[in-house]
Formats: sequence, structure tokens, C-alpha cells
Amino acid sequence: MKIGVHCSIRKGYIEALYEAKELGCNCLQMFTHSPRIWKFSFPSEKEIQIFKETRKKLNLFPLVIHTAYLPNPASSNEEIYIKTRNLLLLEFELTQIFEAEYIVMHPGSYSEGKTMDEGIKNIVESIDFCFDKILDKYKNINFMLLLENVCGGGRKIGRTFQELSKIILKSTYKDYIGICIDTAHCFAFGYDITKKKFLKDMLNEIKKFIGINKVKLIHLNDSKAPLNSKIDQHYHITKGFIGKKGIKNILKHFKNLPFILETPKETSFDKISLKDKENIKIVKELYSQISS
Ligand SMILES: [Zn+2]
Ligand SMILES: [Zn+2]
Repeated sequence: MKIGVHCSIRKGYIEALYEAKELGCNCLQMFTHSPRIWKFSFPSEKEIQIFKETRKKLNLFPLVIHTAYLPNPASSNEEIYIKTRNLLLLEFELTQIFEAEYIVMHPGSYSEGKTMDEGIKNIVESIDFCFDKILDKYKNINFMLLLENVCGGGRKIGRTFQELSKIILKSTYKDYIGICIDTAHCFAFGYDITKKKFLKDMLNEIKKFIGINKVKLIHLNDSKAPLNSKIDQHYHITKGFIGKKGIKNILKHFKNLPFILETPKETSFDKISLKDKENIKIVKELYSQISS
């Protein structure tokens, strides 16, 4: 199976790779910079080269980049929209030159007094702007953008797979866009993946609007927040409301996809998380039960 966690770049990009390896992962996710600030300095060519070589040596595939939290491509506020586009472009560029397979993005929230359709239009324009620039500069695009479902609340876009499909279908680059399913977000929004019947409904929605082959990645998280709560609170595998049954349902239905854990680390950033180790062990155990 393909399993990874979100690794820290606090001590450098290459350290994130070693963290993944030490945890027993064969894939990983990371940010390209601190996710709560707009500032961003590009790594040197040498650092990029060593990063790529180390990843090959450690055999970590796929590499997933997660975009920062500040950008909001759905915004109708001119300043935020422009800042978002520029930061997003840098993140796309780093995804391309790091040769990461995927970049995961939350679609964002539409502005007060505006409609969801206007928000979607802004998202599509931001995405297409970035892809245009990448294609211009590098002559090819060697990664896919994955839109992640969110748990709702406020004016957030991407709560349902139908909403995500509207973004994909409007983009010029739809062949380069897929989806990432976050189980904690699904559940908190109201998809009861603990019950086979409701999981099937969710799969049917994906089939109808997007196509199951567009699902490329699972963010495997339990949820500390109950069904329908619209609260984003990731929790340790099998210890939350999704529990063993829900996690097993997901493992079974998406067994060929990579699973990335974004569960609480409960440790300082410079230490290997024992909680990560524990969660990975549980997932591997459950996975062996479903495949036998
Ligand atoms: Zn996310
Ligand atoms: Zn996630």
C-alpha cells in the first residue's frame, strides 16, 4: 500500500524526505513554505537537485505539495485575489521543478455579497492563470492539481463533489485537475462514510459528476467533530467519530490510491512523532485485513 504523512519542512525540504522515510512511509506531503505567511523564498538550484536525488534514493512516490492556507482564489477582493494568484503560481512552479506528482488546494471561500458561481469563476481564472504561466515557461506541465473537498461552514466552496466538478469542468486544463478526498472533511460535512449505503451514495455522486478515475489521493484522517458538524478537526485513526468501520470502508474502496495522514502530531516540529508512527501502524494493520 501507499502510505505517507504530512512532513515538516521547518529544517529544510530534504529533511521532510528523511522524516517520511524514518516513519516507514513510501510517499509524503509537504508545504513549499510556511503556510500562514505570504512571504516565500525560492530554494537554490543545488538544493532542488539534491532534493530530487534524495527522493529517488529513498523511493518516495508520490510527492504531494499542499498549498498554503492564506490564499483564497475564490475571493472577489482585488488585493487578496492578486496576492493569491502570485503565491499560487510560485507553489505551482515549485511543484513543477521539484517534480512532485500532485499539488493539493482548497478551493477557497466566495466573498460576502457575492455568489458561489462568482467564487467558482474566480477559482477557475486563478487556476488557468497559473497553468498558462507554467506552460509558457516550462513548455509542459508535469503534475496534477488536486482539489480537496472541505467540510463547509461560512461561504466555503468544494463541500460536495458536485461543487468540485463545476470548477474542473470550467477549466481549460481539466485534464490536469483531479480530486483529493479528505475523510475528516467528508464526514464533518455530512457524508456518513461509516455506513456502506452512504459511502455508496458518495461514490455515485463522484461517478456522476467527476469520474472515479479523477480521485488520485486520500487524506486519511479520523474526525474529532461529529457528522454534519461542519467543524474541521482531524483526529487519530480509529479514535474519532469515523472509527474503525469508516476507515476500513475507505481503505477498501480506494485501496490502490495513496493515503496521506494529517492527524495530530502531538510533538514539537523537530521531533519524529510517535503518534504518526502509531497511526501508520493502525492503518497498515487495517489495510492487511481488507486485502486478505
Ligand atoms: Zn488540506
Ligand atoms: Zn486534508
